Amino acid sequence: MPKNCFVGAGLSAYFSQLLHWREGDTCWYPSASFSPYSVRRPQLEINKLFSSQAKSLGSSQYELTHATLHDRSTRGGNSEIWGGFFDMAQVRQVEKLVAAGVDLVPLSYGATGSVSNVQSLVQLQASNGKIFNAADHLRPGTRNYLNSIHCEGEQITLKCLSASATNESEITVDGKVFVCTGVVQTIDVLLRSQLIKLGDELTLDEFDYELVLGSLPVPQVDKEASVISYTPGRAASHLLGIQKAQILSSIRPFEIHQIFHPRTQTLRLVVGDQGLVEKGGTTAQGTAGSFGQSIHYCNLKINGERLVDVAARLSPNLHFVSMASVAQAKPGPISSDIYSYLESIGS
Ligand SMILES: Cc1cc2nc3c(=O)[nH]c(=O)nc-3n(C[C@H](O)[C@H](O)[C@H](O)COP(=O)(O)OP(=O)(O)OC[C@H]3O[C@@H](n4cnc5c(N)ncnc54)[C@H](O)[C@@H]3O)c2cc1C
Repeated sequence: MPKNCFVGAGLSAYFSQLLHWREGDTCWYPSASFSPYSVRRPQLEINKLFSSQAKSLGSSQYELTHATLHDRSTRGGNSEIWGGFFDMAQVRQVEKLVAAGVDLVPLSYGATGSVSNVQSLVQLQASNGKIFNAADHLRPGTRNYLNSIHCEGEQITLKCLSASATNESEITVDGKVFVCTGVVQTIDVLLRSQLIKLGDELTLDEFDYELVLGSLPVPQVDKEASVISYTPGRAASHLLGIQKAQILSSIRPFEIHQIFHPRTQTLRLVVGDQGLVEKGGTTAQGTAGSFGQSIHYCNLKINGERLVDVAARLSPNLHFVSMASVAQAKPGPISSDIYSYLESIGS
């Protein structure tokens, strides 16, 4: 019986391993050439010119009208194309990142091509100066897809699929299970595990997000807003998936400001026969909004119950780790919320 089991190959899996991995633990990763799931969801795919091209393959359809959700089912997940921004003030054990060789680079136009009104923001970089990609730092593991989860008492049984086995196999885990499968794939896992059923209502929350083109000073925004400002060179590189600051990154004829506002909106999805159907979203003002632009949506609730509470009810050893598990206290980077959530899980 394995001790802890870590599923997924993105940032959440890396942080989970960094804070909770012990000798003898098991890690499951997706395969580069095989997926057991055949439902293709092009509207959820997010690729960049210089990133690997990832398909969204899952087990349920998504019918989204105004909202956008994202699914990068590859080794590294979103961390292959993310901005690397992390709020040091939100976490306690920053030294574990440093000891693992992650550079926490203060923002400046010279070093990162970006600045922020939040002084505690840094960019996570690897030692080669590239924005940190979880794919390059994961522990050895096996190519296994988590198909479903079954809990009895404190014991958790995981059913898995792989390219090398024709049938589903299962393992019972003695220790903790960290399900780090991203928001969309976590919903798929919950459906296959019958933890979400036909007619259930799911919600996700997000702080409002806006892109503004302008020059200094940063446009007037609410005091609690989190603003990340880029040089045009760095913004263009980010758009193309070039994950390292270039010589052009520091040239600054004007800036592009990413504004995370302190007001929230909520997306409602209902489980239908074919999959998830958007039932409209609301902003804090109660009007329909365009959900998902920030790519920092979080706090999945199933019929009003938070995912973390559903997990705790099933087993004290079951932990879903992704944006779905955190409720952001303030707008801005969400990776530090995920790290902080993991810090709250006892060893
Ligand atoms: C363009 C972009 C820029 C961003 N910039 C920032 C930023 O600057 N700061 C910030 O804080 N956040 C940022 N984010 C958000 C941040 O990247 C995500 O919060 C974070 O990467 C989520 O990581 P994750 O591991 O939870 O999920 P994912 O990145 O989705 O990874 C999930 C992993 O699980 C694997 N998986 C899925 N299903 C299974 C299964 N059944 N079995 C086994 N493995 C499975 C997938 O293949 C993948 O490897 C950005 C996101 C994007 C897209």
